[in-house]
Amino acid sequence: MIIQPKIRGFICTTAHPTGCAANVAEQIAYVKRQAKITGPKRVLVIGASTGYGLASRIVSAFGAGAATIGVFFERSAADKRTATAGWYNSAAFETKAHAEGLYAKSINGDAFSDAIKQETIDLIRRDWGGGVDLVIYSLASPKRQDPDTGIVYSSCLKPIGQVYRNKTIDIMTGEVSEVSLTPATDDEIAQTVAVMGGADWARWMSQLHQAGVLARGVKTVAYTYIGPELTFPLYHKGTIGRAKADLEAHAIKIHQQLANDLQGEALISVNKALVTQASAAIPVVPLYISILYKLMKQQGLHEGCIEQIERLFSERLYLPEGQKPARDVAGRIRIDDWEMREDLQQAVSECWAQVNSDTSLTLTDVLGYRAEFQRLFGFGCDGVDYDKDVSADVDIPSIDK
Ligand code: NAD
Repeated sequence: MIIQPKIRGFICTTAHPTGCAANVAEQIAYVKRQAKITGPKRVLVIGASTGYGLASRIVSAFGAGAATIGVFFERSAADKRTATAGWYNSAAFETKAHAEGLYAKSINGDAFSDAIKQETIDLIRRDWGGGVDLVIYSLASPKRQDPDTGIVYSSCLKPIGQVYRNKTIDIMTGEVSEVSLTPATDDEIAQTVAVMGGADWARWMSQLHQAGVLARGVKTVAYTYIGPELTFPLYHKGTIGRAKADLEAHAIKIHQQLANDLQGEALISVNKALVTQASAAIPVVPLYISILYKLMKQQGLHEGCIEQIERLFSERLYLPEGQKPARDVAGRIRIDDWEMREDLQQAVSECWAQVNSDTSLTLTDVLGYRAEFQRLFGFGCDGVDYDKDVSADVDIPSIDK
């Protein structure tokens, strides 16, 4: 079939297999141009098919030569519907990894469920003699079913305590308008914490530990975002910020357990704001990212997921013996350090004050944002012939459909 992008709001309902494979190949090529990483050998990535999780899997495999198991929730092609981008990404990743003799298997299903946790544990037991030495937790989901109660929680992106008004941009038209977001109720806050907080990460780590599949010295890392004061009411101090505070509170507990029993560690990495399927859904943030990209590209500081995660692994997680990694006062890793540079944030604020529908094309990188958004789904990639008939039905080698 000929596959075209079908964009509805902040989601694209089609994905292009060749384009997604090209994206994965480009990320692999970037990693291969960097120095080899001496570090993890058996890596479990939870949320491995897109965004930061996919980049973590690629850096583990092609940067450190690690065996990887990726867990994600994606859809294969059916009837006239294409598969999701994460499905095609994972198919391309596995194929490339296998071609280089790297172990790579994937599990597709609800990572919040105990059944998928058990399936993962069984696979580790069966295939990996030694335990897992790195667990990356990179889920972004609008819903979570609590495995104990069966209750389904929904997350929301809202301010807390008062109405938040600010500018936002329509990525497709470049129109800048004002949004007004009403504060979350207590129930909405609690539900967002239940979805995006640390309960599920802690459950994963506890079940992996109890099953005896974690190696001595194991590390686990979960990703968060803080951002500038401009977006604080909506992000850092909003419902999602509460969930991230809960993630950090769980990191402390997970760390204590791992440190005591396995000389391991649990870490939080604060990452840069980037165009991913998850961040596109947040109002205001796409305008912030469009301005940020413009300025960071001008200053030669721009990074995507792969550059961020390569730097995380090589400069923060796996340093030569004796070197201490930099952490902030709360003990977090900061690979958002370039984004948060004072001079850069000052320039973002100045631009923010001026930007409107007439100036958005020149003052911001909204065109770059749009192109990157489409690339998430495999569209607009260099060297891909979009007029060519392709099969939407692509297998992930390790998954039986
Ligand atoms: P993403 O949407 O690109 O990826 C989410 C992943 O989670 C996918 O692999 C998806 O399949 C998987 N997933 C979702 N629900 C699942 C479920 N029920 N079971 C199994 N897998 C499931 O998201 P992202 O932007 O890469 O975000 C990953 C993490 O990074 C999040 O914690 C996010 O808060 C954090 N982060 C993102 C940004 C950003 O700007 N995008 C910045 C800093 C931190």
